[in-house]
Amino acid sequence: MENEEFFKEYFIIRDELDRHCADLYKLHASHLNCKAGCDSCCMDFSIFPVEFYVIKNQVGDNLKKGIKPASDGECAFLVNHRCVIYEARPIICRTQGLPLLYMGDEHWELSACELNFTDFDFDDFTEENTFPQDKYNSRLFLLNQKFIENFPGKPFKNNDLIPLRKLFSDAENNS
Ligand code: SF4
Repeated sequence: MENEEFFKEYFIIRDELDRHCADLYKLHASHLNCKAGCDSCCMDFSIFPVEFYVIKNQVGDNLKKGIKPASDGECAFLVNHRCVIYEARPIICRTQGLPLLYMGDEHWELSACELNFTDFDFDDFTEENTFPQDKYNSRLFLLNQKFIENFPGKPFKNNDLIPLRKLFSDAENNS
């Protein structure tokens, strides 16, 4: 299977997730304070190889255009409180601000932004009005498994993650 086919599958998952998020953003609109300039949920993330290579392919040479990576501990792509790879940002960034439902070590856990859900009764969260984090994570995990199995030389293990900021060093090395 060629990289393009893995990338196509990734975009199917990502588009579906974007639509799901859009519906939830609409549903919770009266509670959401997400706006340009708020970057409380931006962190120095690491991501699965399949996603790393999709983003690398999508942002490509744009990273050579004089953007300086932020220091360690902050997301390298947060410049003046704005995401410089917004269109290509990873899946973990796309659900931020929403109430997220996921399976913890032993039971279901819920995470909701404190800046958004200030006066929301947490008992009102349900399976329908929260984002099912595990549903998309497991699809991404399975796609990544196929991707790394197919990767020349098989350098990655199942749970290996690549720091997103490595996109910068890769771009510099290719310039
Ligand atoms: S990639 Fe963009 S949205 Fe994601 S953490 Fe970095 S700056 Fe924030």
